[in-house]
Amino acid sequence: MEKNKFYITTSIAYASGKPHIGNTYEVVLADSIARFKRLQGYDVYFQTGTDEHGQKIEEKAIKAGLQPQEFVDDMAREVRKIWDTMNTSYDKFVRTTNPKHEDIVKKIFKKLYDKGDIYKGRYEGLYCTPCESFFTESQLVDGKCPDCGREVSKTSEEAYFFKMSKYVDKLLDYIESSNFIQPESRKNEMINNFIKPGLQDLCVTRTSFKWGIPVDFDPLHVIYVWLDALTNYITFIGYDPDGSDEKFNKYWPCDVHLVGKDIIRFHTIYWPIILMALDLPLPKKVFGHPWLLVGNDKMSKSKGNIIYADDLVKEYGVDAIRYYFLHEIPFANDGTYTDELLIERYNSDLANNLGNLVNRTISMAHKYFDGVVPEVGIKEDVDNELINTCLNAYDLVNSKMDELKVADAIDVVFGIFKRANKYIDETMPWVLAKEGNTDRLKTVIYNLLESIRIGTVLLQPFLPETADKIFSQLNTENKSFESIKEFNGLDTDIKLNNPEPLFVRIDKNK
Ligand SMILES: [Zn+2]
Repeated sequence: MEKNKFYITTSIAYASGKPHIGNTYEVVLADSIARFKRLQGYDVYFQTGTDEHGQKIEEKAIKAGLQPQEFVDDMAREVRKIWDTMNTSYDKFVRTTNPKHEDIVKKIFKKLYDKGDIYKGRYEGLYCTPCESFFTESQLVDGKCPDCGREVSKTSEEAYFFKMSKYVDKLLDYIESSNFIQPESRKNEMINNFIKPGLQDLCVTRTSFKWGIPVDFDPLHVIYVWLDALTNYITFIGYDPDGSDEKFNKYWPCDVHLVGKDIIRFHTIYWPIILMALDLPLPKKVFGHPWLLVGNDKMSKSKGNIIYADDLVKEYGVDAIRYYFLHEIPFANDGTYTDELLIERYNSDLANNLGNLVNRTISMAHKYFDGVVPEVGIKEDVDNELINTCLNAYDLVNSKMDELKVADAIDVVFGIFKRANKYIDETMPWVLAKEGNTDRLKTVIYNLLESIRIGTVLLQPFLPETADKIFSQLNTENKSFESIKEFNGLDTDIKLNNPEPLFVRIDKNK
């Protein structure tokens, strides 16, 4: 039987500088969803990459004394290194300076021009140079750029425009009749603040810089980010206006575009309209995730509060940082990063709740049963709550993941470990050992080991490295979701490996 497909993307990182933890969070979030779906048996395609054109990059390259291409080559390498450091399992890392992509973008532009959806005109408006965007008087916030808050200036230039208004009714229908925009709160924001007031035609070219894809038939004009960057989601899976690949037909439409809440407007208004103009199906879902703040501030160079994921990983290990990202950023509200909170989570959730549980349990199995997984002996009522917690976990995690509530899903998994720790207190295996109650002790140790295995199966999408370490200590290959439908997936009579600490407590004062 052919597997169901699941296509997930992150936004592509703008290659003007090294991505900080606020950007890195997104790819880890996408990774956890991709891994979860793979474990469910989906044919997953996970795409991420870099957006490599534009004025800012051109300027930065000049400043660095490099050709723009050299500059973005370095930057793409840097981004990819961080994505790899975070142990993200992307299937494809794309770059918008790829010549094939550039060709297809030119063709898309030509197709829309021939169709009459793109026309040449003149723009007289208010321009924000850093954002490379035009605004109308009514879009300004306190007379300044609505995106970055900087001054705008009156500019006039010849440019190509996209007829947005032509598709607005169709877009509104789609948005209102589907779960296309997540979370719900952003859906209302898009409808009420941007669509209902009326969409202006979108300026899709620039003449103010060179570093971009030129319009074939009018090379003074460079195709602006909308048709260059957004289209990465289709060009790299084989879309071609003259006839697309099998791969495109297989994976499109996208199941989830994960993007920061600051660019959700582009992905839920411009992008679907571009797709409608190309007669392509629309993505199923766009999730505008919240931000990761440092303390209460947005990260910025001027505030000097930028934190990079690779620095944190060196200090705390990759899974500690993955855990922090995935656990601390709620579905709709911004999350916050502080060293104190990271250390607290590390010690309480990872070192105590998870690490100690695994270490104590495997050590007891070695002490009482020479490290051999015992057969279940005498059962008691107290076992049922632990067993039920484990058996209910998959459905709970699955429903949270379906809603993209990853932080809640992780809580369910760590709830298993918490319940198992409580079970140790309730059953006091060391007392059973002292009393020589071996039949009961066998059950208790088996239940603990099996609970750990079930929790670890569900931990894989979030903390893959830690999950592998635990499986190796348990010496088991039973890692599938199928294997946690019943509470007997850990084979008896196998010899456990030696316990090894997973997370060593951090001394806060250091
Ligand atoms: Zn701006």
